[in-house]
Amino acid sequence: MNRLTDAIDARRDELIALTQDLIRIPTLNPPGRNYREICDYLQARLAPQGWRCEMIRATGTPGDSDRWPRWNIVARRPGARRGDCVHFNSHHDVVEVGHGWTRDPFGGELDGDRIYGRGACDMKGGLAASIIAAEAFVATHPDHAGQIEISATADEESGGYGGVAYLAGQGAFAHVDHVIIPEPLHKDRICLGHRGVWWAEIETQGRIAHGSMPFLGDCAVRHMGAVLAEMEARLWPLLAGKQTEMPVIPEGARSSTLNINAIHGGAAEQAADYTGLPTPCVPDRCRIVIDRRFLIEEDLAEVKAEVTALLERVRAQRPGFRYEVRDLFEVVPSMTDREAPVVRTTAAAIQRVLGREADYVVSPGTYDQKHIDRIGKLGTASPMGPACWTWRISPMNGSA
Ligand SMILES: [Zn+2]
Repeated sequence: MNRLTDAIDARRDELIALTQDLIRIPTLNPPGRNYREICDYLQARLAPQGWRCEMIRATGTPGDSDRWPRWNIVARRPGARRGDCVHFNSHHDVVEVGHGWTRDPFGGELDGDRIYGRGACDMKGGLAASIIAAEAFVATHPDHAGQIEISATADEESGGYGGVAYLAGQGAFAHVDHVIIPEPLHKDRICLGHRGVWWAEIETQGRIAHGSMPFLGDCAVRHMGAVLAEMEARLWPLLAGKQTEMPVIPEGARSSTLNINAIHGGAAEQAADYTGLPTPCVPDRCRIVIDRRFLIEEDLAEVKAEVTALLERVRAQRPGFRYEVRDLFEVVPSMTDREAPVVRTTAAAIQRVLGREADYVVSPGTYDQKHIDRIGKLGTASPMGPACWTWRISPMNGSA
Protein backbone atom coordinates (compact mmCIF):
# COMPACT_ATOMS: atom_id res chain seq x y z
CA MET A 1 0.00 0.00 0.00
CA ASN A 2 2.84 2.42 0.80
CA ARG A 3 4.35 1.62 -2.57
CA LEU A 4 1.08 2.65 -4.18
CA THR A 5 0.66 5.90 -2.24
CA ASP A 6 4.33 6.75 -2.90
CA ALA A 7 3.77 6.13 -6.60
CA ILE A 8 0.75 8.45 -6.54
CA ASP A 9 2.70 11.13 -4.65
CA ALA A 10 5.48 10.87 -7.23
CA ARG A 11 2.94 11.74 -9.92
CA ARG A 12 1.83 15.01 -8.33
CA ASP A 13 3.11 17.21 -11.18
CA GLU A 14 1.65 14.83 -13.72
CA LEU A 15 -1.74 15.00 -11.98
CA ILE A 16 -1.68 18.79 -12.16
CA ALA A 17 -0.67 18.76 -15.82
CA LEU A 18 -3.35 16.21 -16.72
CA THR A 19 -6.06 18.21 -14.94
CA GLN A 20 -4.93 21.36 -16.74
CA ASP A 21 -4.94 19.62 -20.13
CA LEU A 22 -8.49 18.35 -19.56
CA ILE A 23 -9.75 21.80 -18.51
CA ARG A 24 -8.21 23.27 -21.68
CA ILE A 25 -10.53 21.15 -23.82
CA PRO A 26 -13.80 23.13 -23.51
CA THR A 27 -16.41 20.38 -23.41
CA LEU A 28 -19.34 22.73 -22.91
CA ASN A 29 -22.77 21.20 -22.55
CA PRO A 30 -25.00 22.33 -24.09
CA PRO A 31 -24.44 21.91 -26.94
CA GLY A 32 -21.76 19.27 -26.37
CA ARG A 33 -18.54 20.78 -27.70
CA ASN A 34 -15.27 18.87 -28.18
CA TYR A 35 -16.56 15.55 -26.88
CA ARG A 36 -14.57 13.69 -29.54
CA GLU A 37 -11.49 15.79 -28.83
CA ILE A 38 -11.41 14.91 -25.14
CA CYS A 39 -11.97 11.21 -25.90
CA ASP A 40 -9.13 11.33 -28.46
CA TYR A 41 -6.89 12.97 -25.87
CA LEU A 42 -7.60 10.23 -23.34
CA GLN A 43 -7.11 7.49 -25.90
CA ALA A 44 -3.76 8.99 -26.91
CA ARG A 45 -2.69 8.83 -23.27
CA LEU A 46 -4.02 5.42 -22.28
CA ALA A 47 -3.75 3.24 -25.42
CA PRO A 48 0.08 3.32 -25.59
CA GLN A 49 0.15 2.06 -21.97
CA GLY A 50 -1.81 -1.03 -22.93
CA TRP A 51 -5.34 0.13 -22.16
CA ARG A 52 -7.89 -1.14 -24.66
CA CYS A 53 -9.88 1.93 -25.61
CA GLU A 54 -13.34 1.89 -27.07
CA MET A 55 -14.92 5.03 -28.49
CA ILE A 56 -18.70 4.92 -28.28
CA ARG A 57 -21.03 7.46 -29.83
CA ALA A 58 -24.47 7.52 -28.20
CA THR A 59 -26.22 7.81 -31.52
CA GLY A 60 -29.80 9.03 -31.43
CA THR A 61 -29.79 10.12 -27.79
CA PRO A 62 -31.12 13.58 -26.83
CA GLY A 63 -28.78 16.22 -28.25
CA ASP A 64 -26.83 13.83 -30.50
CA SER A 65 -26.28 15.08 -34.04
CA ASP A 66 -23.50 14.99 -36.62
CA ARG A 67 -22.62 18.51 -35.51
CA TRP A 68 -22.67 17.65 -31.79
CA PRO A 69 -22.04 13.90 -31.51
CA ARG A 70 -22.20 12.38 -28.02
CA TRP A 71 -18.82 10.62 -27.72
CA ASN A 72 -17.75 8.47 -24.80
CA ILE A 73 -14.61 6.51 -24.10
CA VAL A 74 -14.16 3.34 -22.08
CA ALA A 75 -10.58 2.21 -21.41
CA ARG A 76 -10.01 -1.31 -20.09
CA ARG A 77 -6.96 -2.98 -18.64
CA PRO A 78 -7.42 -6.71 -18.18
CA GLY A 79 -5.96 -8.28 -15.07
CA ALA A 80 -3.34 -11.02 -15.07
CA ARG A 81 -5.88 -13.32 -13.46
CA ARG A 82 -9.55 -13.42 -12.58
CA GLY A 83 -10.89 -10.96 -10.08
CA ASP A 84 -13.45 -8.24 -9.54
CA CYS A 85 -13.80 -5.58 -12.21
CA VAL A 86 -13.47 -2.04 -10.84
CA HIS A 87 -14.75 0.80 -13.01
CA PHE A 88 -13.97 4.51 -12.53
CA ASN A 89 -16.56 6.72 -14.20
CA SER A 90 -16.31 10.46 -14.73
CA HIS A 91 -18.34 12.72 -16.95
CA HIS A 92 -16.28 14.84 -19.31
CA ASP A 93 -18.89 17.55 -19.99
CA VAL A 94 -19.01 20.87 -18.17
CA VAL A 95 -21.78 23.43 -17.76
CA GLU A 96 -21.80 26.91 -19.22
CA VAL A 97 -19.22 29.41 -18.03
CA GLY A 98 -21.46 32.31 -16.98
CA HIS A 99 -20.13 35.77 -16.24
CA GLY A 100 -17.70 37.36 -13.84
CA TRP A 101 -14.61 35.17 -14.22
CA THR A 102 -11.34 36.73 -13.18
CA ARG A 103 -9.34 33.90 -14.78
CA ASP A 104 -9.55 32.22 -18.15
CA PRO A 105 -12.20 29.52 -17.58
CA PHE A 106 -10.37 27.24 -20.00
CA GLY A 107 -6.85 28.26 -19.02
CA GLY A 108 -6.33 25.67 -16.31
CA GLU A 109 -4.15 28.15 -14.45
CA LEU A 110 -2.22 26.90 -11.42
CA ASP A 111 -1.96 29.48 -8.64
CA GLY A 112 -0.54 28.30 -5.34
CA ASP A 113 -2.19 24.97 -4.63
CA ARG A 114 -5.30 25.64 -6.72
CA ILE A 115 -6.12 25.02 -10.35
CA TYR A 116 -8.66 27.41 -11.87
CA GLY A 117 -11.05 26.62 -14.67
CA ARG A 118 -14.49 25.35 -15.61
CA GLY A 119 -14.63 21.70 -14.60
CA ALA A 120 -11.53 21.82 -12.37
CA CYS A 121 -13.77 20.56 -9.58
CA ASP A 122 -16.73 19.06 -11.44
CA MET A 123 -15.21 16.83 -12.56
CA LYS A 124 -12.05 16.90 -14.64
CA GLY A 125 -10.06 16.91 -11.40
CA GLY A 126 -11.76 13.64 -10.46
CA LEU A 127 -11.20 12.17 -13.90
CA ALA A 128 -7.50 13.07 -13.76
CA ALA A 129 -7.21 11.69 -10.22
CA SER A 130 -8.72 8.35 -11.21
CA ILE A 131 -6.40 8.06 -14.22
CA ILE A 132 -3.29 8.84 -12.17
CA ALA A 133 -4.40 6.46 -9.42
CA ALA A 134 -5.07 3.66 -11.91
CA GLU A 135 -1.75 4.23 -13.68
CA ALA A 136 0.10 4.20 -10.37
CA PHE A 137 -1.70 1.02 -9.36
CA VAL A 138 -0.83 -0.73 -12.62
CA ALA A 139 2.81 0.38 -12.31
CA THR A 140 3.10 -1.01 -8.79
CA HIS A 141 0.89 -4.07 -9.34
CA PRO A 142 1.49 -5.12 -12.97
CA ASP A 143 0.03 -8.58 -12.37
CA HIS A 144 -3.12 -7.39 -10.59
CA ALA A 145 -6.25 -9.50 -10.50
CA GLY A 146 -9.42 -8.35 -12.22
CA GLN A 147 -10.03 -5.75 -14.89
CA ILE A 148 -9.68 -2.03 -14.26
CA GLU A 149 -11.77 0.33 -16.35
CA ILE A 150 -11.85 4.09 -16.77
CA SER A 151 -14.67 5.79 -18.60
CA ALA A 152 -15.16 9.42 -19.53
CA THR A 153 -18.76 9.97 -20.48
CA ALA A 154 -20.94 12.64 -22.04
CA ASP A 155 -23.91 14.64 -20.90
CA GLU A 156 -24.06 13.97 -17.16
CA GLU A 157 -24.98 17.61 -16.72
CA SER A 158 -28.00 17.16 -18.98
CA GLY A 159 -29.25 13.84 -17.65
CA GLY A 160 -26.59 11.36 -18.78
CA TYR A 161 -28.64 9.88 -21.63
CA GLY A 162 -25.83 10.35 -24.15
CA GLY A 163 -23.36 8.96 -21.62
CA VAL A 164 -23.75 6.49 -18.79
CA ALA A 165 -27.38 5.67 -19.53
CA TYR A 166 -26.45 4.75 -23.09
CA LEU A 167 -23.46 2.67 -22.04
CA ALA A 168 -25.53 0.92 -19.38
CA GLY A 169 -28.18 0.15 -21.98
CA GLN A 170 -25.51 -1.40 -24.18
CA GLY A 171 -24.46 -3.71 -21.37
CA ALA A 172 -21.22 -1.90 -20.61
CA PHE A 173 -21.60 -2.52 -16.87
CA ALA A 174 -22.84 -6.10 -16.98
CA HIS A 175 -19.40 -7.53 -16.12
CA VAL A 176 -18.50 -4.70 -13.70
CA ASP A 177 -18.51 -5.42 -9.96
CA HIS A 178 -17.76 -2.00 -8.47
CA VAL A 179 -18.12 1.54 -9.77
CA ILE A 180 -16.41 4.61 -8.33
CA ILE A 181 -17.63 8.02 -9.50
CA PRO A 182 -15.23 10.74 -8.29
CA GLU A 183 -17.76 13.59 -8.30
CA PRO A 184 -16.65 16.48 -6.07
CA LEU A 185 -18.21 15.94 -2.64
CA HIS A 186 -14.95 16.28 -0.67
CA LYS A 187 -12.16 13.79 -0.38
CA ASP A 188 -13.14 12.60 3.10
CA ARG A 189 -16.73 11.85 2.13
CA ILE A 190 -18.30 8.83 0.52
CA CYS A 191 -21.47 9.64 -1.36
CA LEU A 192 -23.79 6.66 -1.21
CA GLY A 193 -26.51 7.86 -3.55
CA HIS A 194 -29.10 10.50 -4.18
CA ARG A 195 -32.75 11.41 -3.68
CA GLY A 196 -35.41 10.75 -6.28
CA VAL A 197 -36.68 13.28 -8.80
CA TRP A 198 -40.03 13.91 -10.37
CA TRP A 199 -40.40 16.78 -12.80
CA ALA A 200 -43.83 17.45 -14.10
CA GLU A 201 -45.69 20.19 -15.91
CA ILE A 202 -49.01 21.22 -14.46
CA GLU A 203 -51.32 23.15 -16.74
CA THR A 204 -54.47 24.96 -15.73
CA GLN A 205 -56.96 25.70 -18.45
CA GLY A 206 -59.41 28.55 -18.90
CA ARG A 207 -61.06 30.45 -21.73
CA ILE A 208 -59.63 33.34 -23.68
CA ALA A 209 -61.55 36.67 -23.78
CA HIS A 210 -60.82 40.35 -24.13
CA GLY A 211 -59.00 41.74 -21.11
CA SER A 212 -61.58 44.51 -20.69
CA MET A 213 -64.30 41.91 -20.04
CA PRO A 214 -62.63 39.19 -17.99
CA PHE A 215 -66.06 37.92 -16.88
CA LEU A 216 -66.54 36.61 -20.43
CA GLY A 217 -63.50 34.39 -20.11
CA ASP A 218 -61.93 32.18 -17.48
CA CYS A 219 -58.48 33.12 -16.27
CA ALA A 220 -56.06 30.18 -16.20
CA VAL A 221 -53.54 32.25 -14.20
CA ARG A 222 -56.07 32.75 -11.39
CA HIS A 223 -56.69 29.01 -11.39
CA MET A 224 -52.95 28.47 -11.09
CA GLY A 225 -52.89 31.01 -8.26
CA ALA A 226 -55.34 28.78 -6.40
CA VAL A 227 -53.05 25.79 -7.01
CA LEU A 228 -50.06 27.69 -5.62
CA ALA A 229 -52.08 28.86 -2.62
CA GLU A 230 -53.03 25.27 -1.87
CA MET A 231 -49.38 24.27 -2.15
CA GLU A 232 -48.43 27.01 0.31
CA ALA A 233 -51.15 26.07 2.75
CA ARG A 234 -50.93 22.28 2.65
CA LEU A 235 -48.21 20.79 0.47
CA TRP A 236 -45.05 22.55 1.60
CA PRO A 237 -45.81 22.02 5.29
CA LEU A 238 -46.52 18.35 4.55
CA LEU A 239 -43.22 17.93 2.67
CA ALA A 240 -41.20 19.70 5.36
CA GLY A 241 -42.49 17.14 7.83
CA LYS A 242 -41.16 14.19 5.84
CA GLN A 243 -37.65 13.42 7.02
CA THR A 244 -35.29 10.82 5.65
CA GLU A 245 -32.79 8.47 7.21
CA MET A 246 -30.59 9.14 4.17
CA PRO A 247 -27.56 11.24 5.21
CA VAL A 248 -28.31 13.93 2.63
CA ILE A 249 -26.12 17.02 2.59
CA PRO A 250 -26.85 19.86 3.10
CA GLU A 251 -29.20 18.98 5.94
CA GLY A 252 -32.01 21.12 4.53
CA ALA A 253 -32.37 18.48 1.83
CA ARG A 254 -33.11 15.74 4.38
CA SER A 255 -36.80 16.41 3.91
CA SER A 256 -38.89 16.16 0.79
CA THR A 257 -38.66 19.30 -1.31
CA LEU A 258 -40.60 20.88 -4.12
CA ASN A 259 -39.44 23.73 -6.32
CA ILE A 260 -41.44 25.59 -8.93
CA ASN A 261 -38.86 25.66 -11.70
CA ALA A 262 -40.91 27.81 -14.07
CA ILE A 263 -44.25 29.52 -14.54
CA HIS A 264 -45.76 30.67 -17.80
CA GLY A 265 -49.15 32.10 -18.55
CA GLY A 266 -50.89 34.56 -20.83
CA ALA A 267 -49.17 36.49 -23.58
CA ALA A 268 -45.64 35.48 -24.49
CA GLU A 269 -42.83 37.63 -23.18
CA GLN A 270 -42.26 40.32 -25.73
CA ALA A 271 -39.38 40.04 -28.11
CA ALA A 272 -36.57 42.44 -27.35
CA ASP A 273 -37.03 44.15 -30.71
CA TYR A 274 -40.73 44.89 -30.10
CA THR A 275 -41.34 48.24 -28.46
CA GLY A 276 -45.15 48.34 -28.50
CA LEU A 277 -47.61 47.54 -25.74
CA PRO A 278 -48.84 44.02 -25.01
CA THR A 279 -52.38 43.07 -26.00
CA PRO A 280 -55.15 42.48 -23.45
CA CYS A 281 -56.28 38.88 -23.21
CA VAL A 282 -57.62 36.63 -20.50
CA PRO A 283 -55.05 33.80 -20.36
CA ASP A 284 -56.52 30.45 -21.31
CA ARG A 285 -53.46 28.42 -20.30
CA CYS A 286 -51.05 28.62 -17.39
CA ARG A 287 -48.24 26.16 -16.80
CA ILE A 288 -45.79 25.48 -14.04
CA VAL A 289 -42.90 23.03 -13.96
CA ILE A 290 -42.53 21.38 -10.59
CA ASP A 291 -39.32 19.79 -9.38
CA ARG A 292 -40.15 17.35 -6.61
CA ARG A 293 -37.23 15.64 -4.85
CA PHE A 294 -38.29 12.60 -2.90
CA LEU A 295 -36.83 10.30 -0.31
CA ILE A 296 -35.94 6.65 -0.33
CA GLU A 297 -38.78 6.14 2.16
CA GLU A 298 -41.28 7.52 -0.37
CA ASP A 299 -42.88 5.86 -3.33
CA LEU A 300 -43.05 7.69 -6.66
CA ALA A 301 -46.71 6.74 -7.13
CA GLU A 302 -47.55 8.29 -3.74
CA VAL A 303 -45.55 11.40 -4.62
CA LYS A 304 -47.62 11.84 -7.76
CA ALA A 305 -50.86 11.02 -5.96
CA GLU A 306 -50.18 13.83 -3.46
CA VAL A 307 -50.17 16.36 -6.28
CA THR A 308 -53.24 14.87 -7.94
CA ALA A 309 -55.10 15.00 -4.62
CA LEU A 310 -54.14 18.65 -4.25
CA LEU A 311 -55.43 19.47 -7.72
CA GLU A 312 -58.65 17.60 -7.02
CA ARG A 313 -59.16 19.63 -3.83
CA VAL A 314 -58.80 22.82 -5.84
CA ARG A 315 -61.20 21.46 -8.46
CA ALA A 316 -63.82 20.77 -5.82
CA GLN A 317 -63.64 24.42 -4.73
CA ARG A 318 -63.42 26.24 -8.08
CA PRO A 319 -66.09 26.16 -10.77
CA GLY A 320 -64.59 25.57 -14.21
CA PHE A 321 -61.24 24.41 -12.88
CA ARG A 322 -59.53 22.10 -15.36
CA TYR A 323 -55.97 20.84 -15.31
CA GLU A 324 -53.50 18.44 -16.87
CA VAL A 325 -50.35 16.94 -15.40
CA ARG A 326 -47.58 15.82 -17.73
CA ASP A 327 -44.59 13.82 -16.53
CA LEU A 328 -41.29 15.21 -17.76
CA PHE A 329 -38.57 13.28 -15.95
CA GLU A 330 -38.29 10.82 -13.14
CA VAL A 331 -35.46 9.19 -11.23
CA VAL A 332 -35.91 6.81 -8.34
CA PRO A 333 -33.74 7.32 -5.25
CA SER A 334 -30.51 5.35 -5.14
CA MET A 335 -28.39 4.38 -2.16
CA THR A 336 -25.49 1.93 -1.98
CA ASP A 337 -25.16 -0.16 1.16
CA ARG A 338 -22.58 1.17 3.63
CA GLU A 339 -21.30 -2.36 3.92
CA ALA A 340 -20.72 -2.75 0.17
CA PRO A 341 -17.09 -3.74 -0.53
CA VAL A 342 -16.35 -0.57 -2.51
CA VAL A 343 -17.68 1.60 0.34
CA ARG A 344 -15.78 -0.25 3.06
CA THR A 345 -12.55 -0.17 1.03
CA THR A 346 -12.88 3.54 0.31
CA ALA A 347 -13.57 4.26 3.99
CA ALA A 348 -10.46 2.32 4.97
CA ALA A 349 -8.40 4.26 2.42
CA ILE A 350 -9.69 7.59 3.75
CA GLN A 351 -8.76 6.50 7.29
CA ARG A 352 -5.28 5.44 6.22
CA VAL A 353 -4.41 8.42 4.01
CA LEU A 354 -6.25 11.28 5.74
CA GLY A 355 -6.21 9.87 9.27
CA ARG A 356 -9.90 10.39 9.88
CA GLU A 357 -13.20 8.60 9.65
CA ALA A 358 -15.05 8.92 6.39
CA ASP A 359 -18.34 10.80 6.34
CA TYR A 360 -21.20 9.08 4.54
CA VAL A 361 -23.37 11.44 2.56
CA VAL A 362 -26.16 11.41 0.02
CA SER A 363 -26.41 13.99 -2.75
CA PRO A 364 -29.42 16.35 -2.78
CA GLY A 365 -29.43 16.17 -6.58
CA THR A 366 -28.71 13.26 -8.87
CA TYR A 367 -25.78 12.10 -10.91
CA ASP A 368 -24.96 9.14 -13.13
CA GLN A 369 -25.25 6.55 -10.34
CA LYS A 370 -28.96 6.38 -11.17
CA HIS A 371 -28.33 4.87 -14.58
CA ILE A 372 -25.81 2.34 -13.34
CA ASP A 373 -28.18 1.37 -10.55
CA ARG A 374 -31.32 1.15 -12.65
CA ILE A 375 -30.08 0.10 -16.10
CA GLY A 376 -26.53 -1.06 -15.52
CA LYS A 377 -27.19 -4.14 -13.39
CA LEU A 378 -23.65 -4.63 -12.14
CA GLY A 379 -22.28 -8.11 -12.44
CA THR A 380 -25.19 -9.63 -14.35
CA ALA A 381 -22.64 -10.69 -17.00
CA SER A 382 -25.12 -10.48 -19.84
CA PRO A 383 -25.71 -7.46 -22.02
CA MET A 384 -28.98 -5.66 -21.49
CA GLY A 385 -31.27 -4.44 -24.22
CA PRO A 386 -31.54 -0.79 -25.10
CA ALA A 387 -31.94 1.57 -22.19
CA CYS A 388 -35.55 2.34 -21.44
CA TRP A 389 -35.27 5.67 -19.75
CA THR A 390 -38.05 8.14 -19.16
CA TRP A 391 -37.28 11.30 -21.02
CA ARG A 392 -39.70 13.79 -22.36
CA ILE A 393 -39.39 17.52 -22.22
CA SER A 394 -42.23 19.33 -23.87
CA PRO A 395 -41.50 22.71 -25.39
CA MET A 396 -42.14 25.50 -22.92
CA ASN A 397 -42.77 28.92 -24.32
CA GLY A 398 -44.54 31.84 -22.88
CA SER A 399 -47.56 31.77 -25.12
CA ALA A 400 -50.92 30.73 -23.79
ZN1 LIG B 1 -20.47 16.35 -11.87
